[in-house]
Amino acid sequence: MLDTAQKLITETAQKLGLSEKQAVELIAINAEHDFEIKLKSGKQLQAYRVQHSNKLGPYKGGIRFHPNVNIDEVRALATLMSFKTAVAGLPMGGGKGGVVVNPRELTEAELEELSRKYVRGLHRHIGPDKDVPAPDVNTNAKIIDWMVDEFEQLSGDKSKASFTGKSIDKGGSLGRDAATGRGGVIVMRELLNKLSINKPVTYALQGWGNVGSFFALVGEAEHENWKLVAATDSSGGVHSQDGYSAKDLNEYKKSGNKLANYKRGQKISNEDLIGLDVDILVLAALEDAVTDKNVGQVKAKIVLELANGPVTYDAYKKLGADGKIVVPDILANAGGVIVSYLEWLQNKNEEHWPEDKVNRELENHLVKATDEVYELSQTKDMTLTEAAFAVAIKRLS
Ligand code: NAD
Repeated sequence: MLDTAQKLITETAQKLGLSEKQAVELIAINAEHDFEIKLKSGKQLQAYRVQHSNKLGPYKGGIRFHPNVNIDEVRALATLMSFKTAVAGLPMGGGKGGVVVNPRELTEAELEELSRKYVRGLHRHIGPDKDVPAPDVNTNAKIIDWMVDEFEQLSGDKSKASFTGKSIDKGGSLGRDAATGRGGVIVMRELLNKLSINKPVTYALQGWGNVGSFFALVGEAEHENWKLVAATDSSGGVHSQDGYSAKDLNEYKKSGNKLANYKRGQKISNEDLIGLDVDILVLAALEDAVTDKNVGQVKAKIVLELANGPVTYDAYKKLGADGKIVVPDILANAGGVIVSYLEWLQNKNEEHWPEDKVNRELENHLVKATDEVYELSQTKDMTLTEAAFAVAIKRLS
């Protein structure tokens, strides 16, 4: 993912006529913090925070708890954040954090201890005007609330603007849960309009988590002619040309079931999903889902990158050569960071906005960003990915 992000940035910088030195500056990372967290139980966990760029404002980006977290992954995610906040026109930079851990193997008490110790290891480097972390894969409002509480105790900061993704009664923003998925729907809708695709479309969704489920739920509520024909989680999933109700699948998942056991349709693996004959392939799980090994199977005309870095560089090139459209992560999933920014803004101004105001602001930001990216792709004969990085690079340089 780091390699893909850096290649895309360097290539686009060259296209824009920037010097090699300027391209190197764009990918350079400002600061890295790595430390070990020792739990009372004796478990030792590796923790990271990477601060890529604060040219446009405080570092901003989530914290991931996952066994596969490694420094290069955190570097890549931090880098992508700087370009995401820039393409969305936010006064924020890019950072990312992670701990190498499977949170399912921790007790609730250990999870709280880990969250608090993560902040103890890092509190001098973060804060409302320095670096504002948020949740990511396997981290949620409860974890962030512990982190905010720890940060308050250590720093005396009572503004709640030190982290975003808090629970609502602790300073969180309405609309944050759904924001990334909702944002994906807005970007997809705008692009389908621009491409004059008005007919009913089918889509397959990889990754029924926070982002994927809200994409499907908001999509279903707002677009009758988008048909969800396949969905997976890490166990695999199901496929049926008759389509699925996102609400029903969500209820099923929320009851603790695996999508692979859903009662209707043909069982499919995550690999099968990539090759389904659909109009849109929505990737909402993790990085490197489409690589040079399976890209040849992709039949969808449009690939929507809702996860961060789900298409590798080689696969992205092959999709382009095959005339397929990749909607880049830094635009497609920017809804989350936009509402994170709105949460930070509400905390700073001691305000609580109603959900429809948050959603309106999200809509305004994303329609504007999609317009800018699409216009540039048309006038400069760029892919949407190049155009999104180009919009960001112009702001960052
Ligand atoms: P999540 O943990 O809620 O969901 C991830 C889902 O992917 C789960 O359903 C999991 O079962 C599934 N999954 C894991 N491995 C898989 C595999 N190999 N194949 C298919 N499914 C698999 O995480 P999330 O918050 O929804 O994040 C998903 C992606 O979106 C990540 O790349 C994350 O960085 C990115 N993202 C999230 C947000 C946000 O607001 N949550 C914002 C921007 C980007």
